[in-house]
Formats: sequence, C-alpha cells, structure tokens
Amino acid sequence: MHPSENELKDYFEGRLKGEPFRRVDDHIQSCPDCQDTLASLQQLPPD
Ligand SMILES: [Zn+2]
Repeated sequence: MHPSENELKDYFEGRLKGEPFRRVDDHIQSCPDCQDTLASLQQLPPD
C-alpha cells in the first residue's frame, strides 16, 4: 500500500514525525514508484 500523495508531500516538507515518518521513509526506500512521485513533488514550484 503506497502512502497517499498528501503523506508524501508532508514527508517531503518535513512535517511527518515518529512512526508515520518511519513508515513512509521505509516504504520509499523500497518503492521506485514512490521515489518517482517524490521526485515530481520536488519539481513543483513553491506556492
Ligand atoms: Zn510506493
């Protein structure tokens, strides 16, 4: 089960802490799909 895009966005922006952070972090290490999603978030212009 992939983290939601909101979770990935929170992860990217440093808002995830503790267990949710570890869950998303562990998942991303092993999931090329989510690595791609995270890379696309990094290319978004700031608000
Ligand atoms: Zn994933």
